[in-house]
Amino acid sequence: MNNKVIVIALGGNALIREGQRGANAEQFENVQRSLDGIIYCLKQGYRVVITHGNGPQVGNMLLMVEASRGSVPEIPLGVCVADTEGAIGYMIQQSLTNRLRREGIDRCVVTVLTQVIVDKNDKAFTNPTKPIGPFFRKDDAERFQREKGWQIVEDSHRGYRRVVASPNPLKIVEERAIKTLLEAGDIVIAAGGGGIPVVQRENGDLEGVDVVIDKDLASSVLARGINAERLVMLTGVEQACLNYRKPNERALSKLTVSDAVRYLEEGHFLPGSMEPKVRAAINFLTWGGDVAIITSLDGAEEAMEGRRGTIIRHV
Ligand code: ADP
Ligand code: MG
Repeated sequence: MNNKVIVIALGGNALIREGQRGANAEQFENVQRSLDGIIYCLKQGYRVVITHGNGPQVGNMLLMVEASRGSVPEIPLGVCVADTEGAIGYMIQQSLTNRLRREGIDRCVVTVLTQVIVDKNDKAFTNPTKPIGPFFRKDDAERFQREKGWQIVEDSHRGYRRVVASPNPLKIVEERAIKTLLEAGDIVIAAGGGGIPVVQRENGDLEGVDVVIDKDLASSVLARGINAERLVMLTGVEQACLNYRKPNERALSKLTVSDAVRYLEEGHFLPGSMEPKVRAAINFLTWGGDVAIITSLDGAEEAMEGRRGTIIRHV
């Protein structure tokens, strides 16, 4: 082991591919096909932390909450996030354990339920923008708005949806435990779905809040906390692009922090998808990281060798 730490963020497509509904067997199969990049990094001697998204899984849980309304007590959003961290963590944990055995790598894989502190005064709380869960009819949506104080938006023709805040992650509560596990040689799965959002009260107590945190931003905060050398974000596209989906689209191979900041300000990266990845890369490098990579799920090895993806460095 070379003692260097790498954070690998698995995008939504690592678990549910386009067009799939997310049946359990599908998710297991997808995870198994998403492990090559992780195995490569382990063979390079990195200590590995894996983070992952949970959008569709939390969406499905919220559908279950609606379907069972009145017959079982409602599960709050924060607890749904915790549940998906456990379930997805398990899928990755078991799949990776099996793969490691086949590869002859004797390492333990551990999922850490991760709480992430957000600022209760974060301005995101007054302007919720992240749609989650099922579509509702107008009258149901208005009732939830009245009875539960939900913020509701109309989603172009498809119905009404709850929107929640997506505040900035500030600190990973279980950071020290994650470090300890890494030092012991374990492979850690953490900050799944961006982590379980919590705020800190005046007296220091943590309390869950019904918001969601972007998993790439949470990954960058985690990467800072554990002094990672690299942050690798594996997603549905090979590279970040300028003028995305326009005739003059241009894929970015190498990117400096200052160029990344400029392109971000120019609005090249769509909010909620590529924008947080580029922001996470900028944060990570500004906080002392060495290299940030954005590439596709099957591109990790070549990107680590500098031959694929978008590679973001200081200069
Ligand atoms: P993940 O689950 O991996 O976080 P997201 O959907 O959140 O995936 O983000 C990746 C998506 O960002 C890509 O699939 C692509 O459609 C979209 N995207 C938005 N802006 C850009 C851009 N400028 N260049 C490339 N992809 C972009
Ligand atoms: Mg995303």
